Amino acid sequence: RGEPSDTWRAYQGASTGTKIECEGWRQEAALRMLNNNLDPEVAEKPEELVVYGGTGSAARSWDAYDAIVEELRELPDDETLLVQSGKPVGRFRTHERAPRVLIANSNLVGKWDDWEHFHELEAEGKIMYGQMTAGSWAYIGTQGIIQGTYETLAALARAEYDETDLEGRIVVTGGLGGMGGAQPLAVTMNGGVCIAAEVDEERIDRRIETGYCQEKTDDLDEAIERAEEAAAAGESYSVGVHVNAADMLEAMLEREFVPDIVTDQTSAHDALEGYYPSGYTVAEADALRDEDPDRYVAESLDTMERHVQAILDLQDRGAVAFEYGNNIRGQVEDERGLETAFDFPGFVPAYIRPQFCEGRGPFRWAALSGDPEDIYRTDEAVLDLFPEKDSLRRWIDLAQDQVQFQGLPSRVCWLGYSTDDDGLTERARFALRINDLVREGEITAPIVVTRDHLDAGSVASPNRETEAMRDGTDAVADWPILNALLNCAAGADIVSVHDGGGVGIGNALHTNNHVVLDGTEQAAETAKRVFTTDPGMGVIRHADAGYEEALDTARESNVAIPMRDR
Ligand code: NAD
Repeated sequence: RGEPSDTWRAYQGASTGTKIECEGWRQEAALRMLNNNLDPEVAEKPEELVVYGGTGSAARSWDAYDAIVEELRELPDDETLLVQSGKPVGRFRTHERAPRVLIANSNLVGKWDDWEHFHELEAEGKIMYGQMTAGSWAYIGTQGIIQGTYETLAALARAEYDETDLEGRIVVTGGLGGMGGAQPLAVTMNGGVCIAAEVDEERIDRRIETGYCQEKTDDLDEAIERAEEAAAAGESYSVGVHVNAADMLEAMLEREFVPDIVTDQTSAHDALEGYYPSGYTVAEADALRDEDPDRYVAESLDTMERHVQAILDLQDRGAVAFEYGNNIRGQVEDERGLETAFDFPGFVPAYIRPQFCEGRGPFRWAALSGDPEDIYRTDEAVLDLFPEKDSLRRWIDLAQDQVQFQGLPSRVCWLGYSTDDDGLTERARFALRINDLVREGEITAPIVVTRDHLDAGSVASPNRETEAMRDGTDAVADWPILNALLNCAAGADIVSVHDGGGVGIGNALHTNNHVVLDGTEQAAETAKRVFTTDPGMGVIRHADAGYEEALDTARESNVAIPMRDR
């Protein structure tokens, strides 16, 4: 990938303030979001262009990064830049209301759509792993996933225990990386106790420094003892244990310690560059990867098999087990033939799908000014707009109190489709309110709204977002493609389509969008269109699969579904 570029070193994150270096705010927003992705405060390994999630990258090489920056600086208001797997490949005159940037990352034709072929092309510098928000310049740090993790655990508390929080419950997990690092804080926000295994001590330290995890230890007995004391006292507590996750779960089984809940967010989707085999320090494993990648993968998969078996054994002994979107079950079933790997569910069918049926998903926004006050102003606006949503108020209070900003100040909140008397969806109403505040000068610079690829109508991923669909259409990928096309038609500022994401090459197709709210009438019209059509895809996708909740949302909010009643 070359040496880190001088341009990147000079930026060290997104520019802030109201002075722009591009032709317009829509291009400036793209540039700031790209640099925000690669902010050392935000990304996991920015000097390698790696943002999060194994090798999820923002640009293919440092040359490609420099070229993207130059293109964005020069891009006129009526042209569209094309980025193919992290490299700028073309620029065309389109029109002012068209997207300014279109991105496609990691996509391969079905028969060749696997890690082996991907790695061959990657080694030759011809393709890049975009993960989800890395290659679409929408990653905002661990703060981006925290609400999703918080909501998932709250939904688990309701579904499994008929309770509103996790007080007195112990959650055991693995992986404290860019996304997985949100787990301890999401557990403690829900009043519970978290024990998280992580092989890389620096990652534990980073989560402690940024307030996501409370303590660390090398001693599992000490971690279990502290966790049990906290749970018995009804206190929230989190500890990172410096150990391989598979080894930790087996040690828990030996000690006959059974947590209430067990899951995992190591980067198991990538056996070579995401998951660490047992028996090695991080440095030793990194050396093995360079020297003998085949042996690394074999040992990594051996450890994963033990890891999944330990989760199944803990489930047998009474723990609630679920997979947290890293495809560890799929890896072990496909590569090791473990037939029972899918005997515990994924988090989407278990807890999240009802929200997708209502078009609800992770709507998130970043203040291009860099001023936290702008985000606090949006917090007030969202609470003012939806006073009836008690859980939203609780979330904003918790986020203000406990979630540190990383890079550009940002916020996440799950909003859905349901429309008001004027036919405006929740997401559209809020976006229009923000746009008004920018126009009135109450917010000092434009806000960019984006989302996770993990949303209601934007993903086909049979081991994750579309696992166990009611009509068996888990692997049908027309939906995310329609979603991306629709986002273009609606005029989103950036639209992207990726393969692989959180579950690995060949296992998912998914899309993302950005809308820049710069206070103009054009931005208002774009927001109205995008934030209707985009969550609307979630409603029609789930209605088509026969989910009553989606059919109800469609009826109540007048979503046109041509063959609904046939
Ligand atoms: P990351 O690569 O930044 O972090 C992974 C962490 O796991 C690293 O810190 C690594 O040291 C640690 N690790 C790897 N193998 C380990 C092992 N055997 N034992 C203990 N620690 C180990 O990745 P991330 O962004 O945190 O994402 C983690 C996984 O979760 C990915 O597979 C990702 O695709 C998935 N994911 C899920 C969701 C979701 O909403 N469910 C969202 C994002 C990512």
